[in-house]
Amino acid sequence: MPELPEVEIARRFVRDRLIGKRVTSIDVLDSRMLARSSERSMRAAFLERTVDDAIRHGKNLLVKIGDDHLYLHLGMSGSLHMVDEDGHTSHERLRLGLDEGALVLDDPRRFGRFGLYHDIEDMLADKGLGPDALTVSDKEFVSRMAGRKSSIKPLLLDQGIIAGVGNLYADEVLFQEQLHPATKANAIARTDMARLGKRIRKVLETSISVRTDFSRLPEGYLLRDRREGAPCPRCATELVVIRVGGRTTVLCPSCQSQRAER
Ligand SMILES: [Zn+2]
Repeated sequence: MPELPEVEIARRFVRDRLIGKRVTSIDVLDSRMLARSSERSMRAAFLERTVDDAIRHGKNLLVKIGDDHLYLHLGMSGSLHMVDEDGHTSHERLRLGLDEGALVLDDPRRFGRFGLYHDIEDMLADKGLGPDALTVSDKEFVSRMAGRKSSIKPLLLDQGIIAGVGNLYADEVLFQEQLHPATKANAIARTDMARLGKRIRKVLETSISVRTDFSRLPEGYLLRDRREGAPCPRCATELVVIRVGGRTTVLCPSCQSQRAER
């Protein structure tokens, strides 16, 4: 499932392959995936305009075309492809013809979304997103997380608090910080919370650097083999699966013992 690192890689793909190209056609191939927009409004905004930037916030991608932005969310199974004029992928949902080739959003499961926003502020306000997990300062991270009564894992997944951490990376950072996912945020000292924020950035950057190929992650990463019964990379205890905040959670029962509430 595309998380922040996959979306960052998609952003760099758009930046490297699309900037300077002119949009010559727009085809919405699944209107159920349109977010707050119509094919007509997208055509009016983007046709004959030039792509000039690609911005990511959390798991959301905005492609600046002319004076407006194409919104792309990859959902559970979305991916972006450049194809020749007559080339196609298996599950095309949106196609942007360019003066050279075409950009295709392919999405077998159709949980992705696309549409039109004037600018990033519009998108942030509409979606109610918190600051981006990769660029948020330690101070802001701590002030947004510390003292809350909820368990830490659902807080990390709440895109309104911090945007960009998904289920897999939440498990990874909590494992690396040896925090039980059900630990209440108000039981975590501010210095430990600041360290967790740093850890998130480090893990996301590391995953981007290996292009999200988990087998290339450093030794000691949970995501190299995140499954029930796999050996903990730190202590070899068998990993267990529990549910926290309704989400499947993998942890080491030995390294991540639960702390008492304060
Ligand atoms: Zn362990």
